[in-house]
Parts: sequence; structure tokens; C-alpha cells
Amino acid sequence: MINSEQKIDILSLFPEELEREIVSLGEPKFRAKQIYSWIIKGKWGEEMKNIPVSLRQKLENRFVFTLPKIEKKLVSKIDGTIKYLFKLHDGEFIESVFMKYEHGNTLCISSQVGCRMGCKFCASTLLGRVRNLLPSEMLGQIIAAEKDTGERISNVVMMGIGEPLDNYDNTIKFLRLVSHEDNLNIGLRHISVSTCGLVDKINDLANEGLPITLSISLHAYDNETRSKIMPINNKYKVEELLMACQRYFEKTSRRISFEYTLIANQNDNEEGAKKLATILKKYIKSPCHVNLIPLNEVKETGLETSKNVNNFKNKLMSLGINATVRRRLGSDINASCGQLRRQAKEENR
Ligand code: SAH
Repeated sequence: MINSEQKIDILSLFPEELEREIVSLGEPKFRAKQIYSWIIKGKWGEEMKNIPVSLRQKLENRFVFTLPKIEKKLVSKIDGTIKYLFKLHDGEFIESVFMKYEHGNTLCISSQVGCRMGCKFCASTLLGRVRNLLPSEMLGQIIAAEKDTGERISNVVMMGIGEPLDNYDNTIKFLRLVSHEDNLNIGLRHISVSTCGLVDKINDLANEGLPITLSISLHAYDNETRSKIMPINNKYKVEELLMACQRYFEKTSRRISFEYTLIANQNDNEEGAKKLATILKKYIKSPCHVNLIPLNEVKETGLETSKNVNNFKNKLMSLGINATVRRRLGSDINASCGQLRRQAKEENR
């Protein structure tokens, strides 16, 4: 349900759920298929050309259909990356980033309005969490971006605003929806879910049977370093997190990748690279991959980007840990998430 009138949020429905609703309206089943194929293209009302007016009226009465609206759009002159600031039906803002890669178009989507995880380097968490996104609002970002660009999105990364595993049920429903063959049919192997490390939820996720790629925002080589920049570490220690990752791998056979944002004088020293290699080898029994991300500086945090990125990478590699430095797309439009939303909120005050 999306609003007080208790209308049904149509874009959050599986095809079989919509079918039940349509039949209960006294309509034939095939209408459900027709309607479903319109809504996943972002079309509604008069745009649903093969739906009779009388049925469209019934749909208006029973369902609510909304797509995130483009409030602002920044296009990189360097690589064509597009950053969207979307406005939701209740006036809240979220961000998505469209990136072109050789293997296809990727959309980075948000999972919550704001975030309550409190990572010290991150812009998305500065104002806390306002609310969770519905499955339809996660899907809606992809539909709106496909509509705007006229291109198909084949890969999705849940690395925008929010902590997907802090919005667990909606995230799971979104993953099942988006990969459904009658929906956008994006393969789960082409979807990455990124988490700051909610161990209990990682355990739950391992049992869902969803072959997504799990990305762990590790960002540190020991508890002292991690607790300073990521409050979640006060709840789940590094060792617990890595053990959960190993269990996840054993259960799913899916490789896990680790994200490591390099911050000057916090987590970027060579000794740290050694310690990181040691704990990864100790706890993770599968080949693992470390994605190094030079910090994208956020003024309010006072933290600075590392100048030691290549040394850190080379040290890890020399110790047998596979590491790459993430290519920065859209560097001219400040494509990392959280900052546009904050600006928009300030302007609207
Ligand atoms: N909450 C999830 C996903 C959102 S953030 C998570 O924590 O994984 C996606 C990635 O960007 C995370 O690895 C996050 O730690 C990282 N990140 C956040 N702010 C950043 C910044 N200013 N510079 C570089 N990486 C950042």
C-alpha cells in the first residue's frame, strides 16, 4: 500500500498477484498480462493503448502507479555517465547513476531515502534515514532511466543511497521482481547488492537462493580502524563479518567482493594492506576480490582522499590478493551518491 486511500502499489506486484487482482475486478486474465507489460515500460492511463477506457477507470480506482520524476539530470561530458536526482510521490529525493560499460548499461540505484548506518565518510547518511523505498520505487528508478535514455539496462548495482539489507523485505521482493521473466528480466547474476555488513541479514540472504553478487563495504583491516569510520562495527566485529561472508560463499558458491575506500591517514597505510591480506586469507576460503575506491571527498566529513592508492594495491597483489582500483566514471558530475539529495533538501528548506 502506498497511500492513505489504501490503493494497491501496482509496480510492487508479481504478475500472478496482478492477475488475481484483475480477475477479482471481473476482468479476464489476459488483461493482467497486457497491463503488466505496460507498467514495466513506465506507461499508465491513456498510454495503455489496448486497455478499454472502462478498465482503465477501474485500475485508477484500485491501484496507484507512480514513477520517480526526474528533478535534475547531470550528464558527464567525459564518459556519458548520467546522474539523476529523482523526486518521489511524497516529495522525497533519491539518486541513481547510469553508466555505460562494454558489458552493458549499469544503473546504480538507491534503496532508502537517506541512511542510518552513519559511516563517517559518506554523504548519504549525514541527515539520517527518512524512510525505506518500496520495491516499486527501486524498480521505478530503472524504468524511469530506461524511459529517459531509450536504452536497456542490463546490470544493476545497489550502491546508491541507503543500506539495502536495512530494508530487507523490500530489497528481496525487488530482486525477485526485477529478475522475473515477465518483468524487466534482469539476470540476478547481473545484480550486485552492497552492504556495510549486517551479519544477521547476510545469513538470511544466503538462504534466499538468489545468485546475486554480494559486495561487502569493508574499508578497514582491523576493528580499531573500522570502528572509527563505520559505527556498524560496534555491533558486528570484522571477524564475525568475514565469517558470515565465508558462510555465504559456502552456501551460495557466489564469489564475494570487498569494497575498500581509501582515506588518507585512516586506512591506507602499507602495514594495513598487509593486515588486510592476512585476515582475508584467514577467513575467506574462496578467491576474493578487493575493489579499491579512492575516497570521494565530502566537505562536511573533513576526510581526505588517499595518495597511497597504487602502493596499497601493489602490496595486496604482492600478497596474492586480487585488487583493482575502481575506474571513476562521471568525475565531472560528482557521480557518487548522496550529495545531490542533500543539496536539494537544503535548497527546499
Ligand atoms: N549501504 C551500502 C551501499 C551504499 S554505498 C554499503 O554500505 O555498501 C556504496 C559504496 O560506496 C559503499 O562501499 C560505501 O562505503 C562507499 N562510499 C560511501 N561514501 C563514499 C565516499 N565519499 N567515497 C568513496 N566511497 C564511498
